[in-house]
Amino acid sequence: MIEGVDGKAILRRLEGALDFKEEEFVSLMASKSKNPFEVLVTTIVSQNTNDKNTAKAMKRLKNILGRIDPERIEKLSLRELEEALRPAGLYRQKARVIKRVASLLSGGRLERILEKDLEEARRELISLPGVGPKTADVLLSLMGRRPTIAVDRHITRVAVRLGLASSDDYEEIRGSLMRLFDPEDYLKAHLLLIKLGRVYCRPKNPKCEECPLRDVCDYAKSKKEIGR
Ligand code: SF4
Repeated sequence: MIEGVDGKAILRRLEGALDFKEEEFVSLMASKSKNPFEVLVTTIVSQNTNDKNTAKAMKRLKNILGRIDPERIEKLSLRELEEALRPAGLYRQKARVIKRVASLLSGGRLERILEKDLEEARRELISLPGVGPKTADVLLSLMGRRPTIAVDRHITRVAVRLGLASSDDYEEIRGSLMRLFDPEDYLKAHLLLIKLGRVYCRPKNPKCEECPLRDVCDYAKSKKEIGR
């Protein structure tokens, strides 16, 4: 918990300070297709790369397939899939994973998983190859409209620096954020914290002096004390 400031107030500050554009979030844009498999593939492709390269790879894949669904991915050769995903990096590995995921999710299985209760759906998603808690939570919050917060590397860094978590443990951070924010704000919190991490709370040389959360941040306070 952050002393003296609630989740709503934090979001108001972030909204006031950050220039938020939906196009900067590739999984969010993919969710507009209302196709959960496309969101899942996009999120797998986005692992270890930036949203710009992910968008390039997904555009190439869409140009080939039209609609991204498990059956069409299964029909594509591994070589063709690799070639489409090349701009995203680790494309051979990602192509193999997506092929396996497609074979496990054909026949509408993903849609059926998303209808289950949150924890069961999460468990089933995480059991898929290439799908960890973050990918599962992205999909559930975007497509399942479920009360969960996906934690990426930016959110991990921000949460630890703010003092919301004592370590980079995924579930600790997720739990802490879910207590801080109201369920209807989870997706907004996820997106704004990523943006905070990209703009102010960068891995090296965070811009604490300009950050909208500097007065409530453990890291900024300790920097000040050391600087005294
Ligand atoms: S004050 Fe600094 S360390 Fe804290 S959240 Fe902002 S940029 Fe990150």
